[in-house]
Amino acid sequence: MEKLAIHGGAKTIPQPFKRNNNIGKEEAAAVQRVMESGVLSQFLGAWDPDFYGGEKVRQFEKDWADYFGVKHAVTVNSNTSGLMCALGAIGLEPGDEVIVSPWTMCASATAILVWNAIPVFADIEEKTFCLDPASIEKRITPRTRAIVVTDIFGHPADLDAIMKLARKHKLRVIEDAAQVPGAKYKGSFAGTIADIGVFSLNYHKHIHTGEGGVCVTDDAELAERMQLIRNHGEAVVEGKGVSRIDNVIGFNFRMGELEAAIGIEQLKKLRGLLDDRRAVAHGIAAGLKGLTGLKLPEEQPDCTHVYYIFGMIYDPKITGVSRDRMVEALAAEGVPISGRYCNIHLLPMYQKKIGYGKQGYPWTGGQYKGDVSYAKGICPVAEDLQDRRYMGLEICAYTYTESEVELVVKAFRKVWQQIKTL
Ligand SMILES: *Cc1c(COP(=O)(O)O)cnc(C)c1O
Repeated sequence: MEKLAIHGGAKTIPQPFKRNNNIGKEEAAAVQRVMESGVLSQFLGAWDPDFYGGEKVRQFEKDWADYFGVKHAVTVNSNTSGLMCALGAIGLEPGDEVIVSPWTMCASATAILVWNAIPVFADIEEKTFCLDPASIEKRITPRTRAIVVTDIFGHPADLDAIMKLARKHKLRVIEDAAQVPGAKYKGSFAGTIADIGVFSLNYHKHIHTGEGGVCVTDDAELAERMQLIRNHGEAVVEGKGVSRIDNVIGFNFRMGELEAAIGIEQLKKLRGLLDDRRAVAHGIAAGLKGLTGLKLPEEQPDCTHVYYIFGMIYDPKITGVSRDRMVEALAAEGVPISGRYCNIHLLPMYQKKIGYGKQGYPWTGGQYKGDVSYAKGICPVAEDLQDRRYMGLEICAYTYTESEVELVVKAFRKVWQQIKTL
């Protein structure tokens, strides 16, 4: 038997995998045309036809809306700024509570704080790593105004249950769809189920424009409010005849023409890229099937998974080896694996409740009347996964040839075979 790399044996995967690169000659040609036009952005922060941006931005928004089957797409310069637009657009008031997952990128919660509202963390469910509707319900108070639900790792959350709960309690729902462009939920695209969905186009995501994001909605008023927040709303409302001026404090979250031109080409490639990633994930899943104490990702009924990350649940009680030791052994073989994701509520900002200034605003000194807790223990599932049981394989980051899929499987099998030596 070959010695494990962690014990000094040869690595199963000697070289790191090549990073995925889905930028090709189509993007280069599109960028070249924009360069030659000299118009790298055509936005104007005033009431003018150019309030909506240049030709490429508008084309990209139309293409995105058509592809995803929504009425409105509003491009922005990141998913983070898109979430800020979305949370402002729904009319949050300072001191409102917004329920959010601890198992997502920190921006899903920070975008709430930006409006002086209060993130309240609900727990996640193991089958998808997304918010658990039962835990959301327990967190609803008279101050709750909205839910930010992240479709994490490439799989949609239990969106019907969450939307039903939200309608019952008159809450708005925003979907952080950064990791799921193209995943399906009961015949619709993930990101299009909630009041607003927000996609990311940063370098690490399925398709990208370097930096970028897109907000989608079927509600014309929400779209307009997001456009105002994106582009200096306070200077636009008079000219445009907008009478409701709450939360139209404007930023510059605009996407440039170069990014939009790249995005138009990237969107055409999305389906093919996702097919490749699904094939990779299915190959890995087939190879890892049957390893004791390892639960593989599963598509829920009527859902598709687009495998941004291949999230697994490991049971150290069954194997007798800690998750951290197991991840160490796999990483030593060259597997791109991590034993950590996110427990946002445990970040220093929440533990110390230090947001704006040093006095604890907006938790104290402002409109907030509740006493939200961020103590360890509030999200037992997310915490236990983070501390002891989660492990995730990066799918989207690499191209994975067939032989590389085989190497990943070989590395796992090698480690599992010699589990007693760990
Ligand atoms: C990447 C990501 C973000 C942030 O996206 P940016 O475009 O970098 O701002 C937010 N939420 C989730 C779930 C993400 O994966």
